[in-house]
Amino acid sequence: MATRNIRTLGDELLRKKSREVEELTPRITQLIDDMFDTMYEADGVGLAAPQVGVLRRIIVIDVGGKKKAPMCLINPVVELKEGSQITSEGCLSVPEISGKVERPDHVIVKGRDRNFKEITIEARDLLAKALMHEIDHLDGIMFVDKMIEEDKPEKETNDKKGL
Ligand code: ZN
Repeated sequence: MATRNIRTLGDELLRKKSREVEELTPRITQLIDDMFDTMYEADGVGLAAPQVGVLRRIIVIDVGGKKKAPMCLINPVVELKEGSQITSEGCLSVPEISGKVERPDHVIVKGRDRNFKEITIEARDLLAKALMHEIDHLDGIMFVDKMIEEDKPEKETNDKKGL
C-alpha cells in the first residue's frame, strides 16, 4: 500500500488541465493503485489524479465507502447530463469547507476502466455528483468555484465526505 500527498486549495497544480492517458503503463497502474490507497486512507469517496499532483485524466470513486464499490475511470467524457440536485459537497483538497453545489442528477460517462477497456457508466444521485466533481478536477475546476452556499459548521454526514 502506498499513499500520496493530497494537494490542497491554493496549490496551482490543482488549477491546471490534465492530459489524456494514451496507453496503460506500469506507471499508470501504480498511480491508480496509489490513488485508491490515498482515497481510502483519507476516508474519501472520490479522488482525481491532479489531487495527488499528477496531471492525467484519471479518477477513482467509491461511493459505497471503504472498498465496497471501487470504480476507476480513465479519460472520462460526459455524454449526457440531465436533471438537477443541490446537495452538500466536500473535497479532500479543501479540508475545512463544505457547501451546497448544483449538479445534474443523471449522467452518462464514457471512458476506460483500469484495464483500459472502454466502458460506459450511467449514474444518478451521489454517483452522478461524484463523477461530475472528479471530472471537474481534471479541468482545474474546484467545487468551491460552484458553491452556492457554504455549510454552517455541523456534524459531518456521509453525503459530504471528501471527493
Ligand atoms: Zn475534490
